[in-house]
Amino acid sequence: MYKPTLDYAQQLDKEDNLAHLRAQFHIPKDAKGNDWLYFTGNSLGLQPKQTQQYIQQELDDWAKYGVEGHFEARNPWMPYHEFLTNSMANIVGAKPLEVVVMNTLTTNLHLLMVSFYQPTKTKYKIVIESDAFPSDRYAVQSQLKFHGFDTEEGLIEWKPREGEELLRIEDLEKIVDEQGDEIALLLIGGVNYYTGQYLDIKRIAEIGHAKNCMVGVDLAHGAGNISPELHDSGVDFAAWCTYKYLNSGPGSLAGLFVHEKHAHNKELPRFAGWWNHNKETRFNMRQPFDVMQGAEGWQLSNPPILSMAAIRASLDMFEEVGMEALRAKSEKLTGYFEYLINQIDTDRIKIITPSNPKERGCQLSIQVKNADKSLHKKLTENNIITDWREPDVIRCAPVPMYNSFEDVYRMVEILKTLL
Ligand SMILES: *Cc1c(COP(=O)(O)O)cnc(C)c1O
Repeated sequence: MYKPTLDYAQQLDKEDNLAHLRAQFHIPKDAKGNDWLYFTGNSLGLQPKQTQQYIQQELDDWAKYGVEGHFEARNPWMPYHEFLTNSMANIVGAKPLEVVVMNTLTTNLHLLMVSFYQPTKTKYKIVIESDAFPSDRYAVQSQLKFHGFDTEEGLIEWKPREGEELLRIEDLEKIVDEQGDEIALLLIGGVNYYTGQYLDIKRIAEIGHAKNCMVGVDLAHGAGNISPELHDSGVDFAAWCTYKYLNSGPGSLAGLFVHEKHAHNKELPRFAGWWNHNKETRFNMRQPFDVMQGAEGWQLSNPPILSMAAIRASLDMFEEVGMEALRAKSEKLTGYFEYLINQIDTDRIKIITPSNPKERGCQLSIQVKNADKSLHKKLTENNIITDWREPDVIRCAPVPMYNSFEDVYRMVEILKTLL
């Protein structure tokens, strides 16, 4: 059904009812003013043009009101994080009670493990994917160590089979069947950062819960990319950053999800600060600690409003477009990208990412046999921004908010000439 021509790619752009969104982003350009072909929205999303105005408003209100801005600002800073909650909950398929924006991703994972990693002498192991993002691996290793366990022995890796790249759910089932009595926690990347594989998190939750293990997911590569339906999935907790698909700026704050089933449990161990103390009496300052219900009960500090303003600017766009429309374009765009790559007449290329659109987001991880980093360099010289993973994988994410069908067409044309 697809065709490998520029005319056809441009035709798809004309028919794309989200094509107008591209003009609402700053697209980086080369010295001659040509747009980069930007495929690293999975690493740092591009800047929406309205972000500046959202941040400027808070700077202006700070200038005008000083501390009174907590109540007098056009968007008062006191409840500012609440302005993000509904849109963020929609993006990940959660109830507002279950979601809060705070801290950064790895910090949130640790705070969540304070509550949901409660090892005993016999049930203490943690399962992660063998290709987990390094920060997640370091985080769980340090949790094991913190609780006095051996970081090697306490860590179980869910690995692809010999000669394969992708994870099989049956293999996780087997691990949990056999060792579930020793496993306290499953912490899995909902969309794997390396392969782009979108795992069935509902199934993972069922597998873990059958053996009384807590189940958490890292959605750094999921939020704003796929629709994880967190509430229905039944996972206990989740966290994700907002600077990848959520276009909120370098090092921006992260999201946190705690399932409703834990929302009212005041007995859960957790760290405390004034920001997870009951809002009604927070400024009374002399009350004993009274934890808030829901995800807000994991906050510690009053949040950075300037960073939240950038998140608001981006989430307003997501709210307007809706994940359903984005996902529909995403499947088509990545489908076209995959089609074009498969048209290349070579046996050097293999797409590692699942071919089933339901098992991936927008990213394709392309393995190029006998290639080295010079290929990545040449792509960059041709204005194609991708991410290189040693030894031979290009990670490439056509993002439905701002990438076009023409972008992927041009990218593949250039890749062809470089091979
Ligand atoms: C991007 C990413 C991180 C980064 O963590 P920060 O705390 O935001 O620096 C962690 N885990 C995963 C899976 C990621 O994709």
